[in-house]
Amino acid sequence: MTAGTLYIVPTPIGNLNDITLRALEVLEQVDVIAAEDTRHSGILLSHFGIKGKLWALHEHNERQKAEAIVARIAEGQNIALISDAGTPLISDPGYPLVSACRAAGITVTALPGACAAITALSAAGLPTDRFLFCGFLPAKQQARISALEALVSEPATMVFYESPRRIVDTLQAIITAFGGEREVVLAREISKQFETYLHGSASTLLAQVQADANQQRGEMVLMIAGAKLDQQTIPSDALKLLKVLSAELPPKKAAKIVAGHYNLRPNDLYKHTMAE
Ligand code: SAM
Repeated sequence: MTAGTLYIVPTPIGNLNDITLRALEVLEQVDVIAAEDTRHSGILLSHFGIKGKLWALHEHNERQKAEAIVARIAEGQNIALISDAGTPLISDPGYPLVSACRAAGITVTALPGACAAITALSAAGLPTDRFLFCGFLPAKQQARISALEALVSEPATMVFYESPRRIVDTLQAIITAFGGEREVVLAREISKQFETYLHGSASTLLAQVQADANQQRGEMVLMIAGAKLDQQTIPSDALKLLKVLSAELPPKKAAKIVAGHYNLRPNDLYKHTMAE
């Protein structure tokens, strides 16, 4: 018997037209659709005239359900995984299922589609050559500040999901950890009627959000610019290696090798060599 396939299917994050033709085709054809919330997804599917068989797969039952799904696929059924919105597994359930399928040698195919983090990043105006997706920060303020402090020297653009209830506290935590001058972008209600992008220093953004209650509503992605060279600590070992390699190689090549090794920006190391 030929085993089936697990399809990872993104769904819209606001505007229903953001579902792809291929997603609709797969959802129509599979034997079972595993959904985070069957009632929520039932509404979406009926909007598109899809009468799929829904199974609940959420964070509390996904380990047990994964086994049953793997068994079904091994018997030849095709199953789609969807979440409430966007791409499954991205701050959403699905990781235990996908890893169980991979371990069982089952084909997993992910369809490209909506994801709030990637959409926000592509419109933010912050560097996109390197970014770090951080999901949700801890809910308690002290733990949030500690999590942010650990990222102070991070050179990549940082992308967070945030709740509107916590946005003011989080901007305050960013000011505590990074200082008020760090550049921040807040993407709100992407693909919906009140889509807004606010950008500026952390202090400016905090003042804007505090002054306008509408900016504390809806769904949001918060992005923090990566540390610039003067905000980063380039590890001394990296500087030593850079010096040795720069004596033998063109500066750009030396910078690229050291950056790859120490997770730094090549351009910052290149500038450092040139400033020496
Ligand atoms: N898997 C989803 C994805 O691919 O984007 C994310 C799921 S996570 C549980 C939900 C969070 O994503 C929200 O709290 C918010 O931070 C972000 N989000 C989802 N839709 C959004 C939208 N339309 N605009 C801004 N942020 C959104």
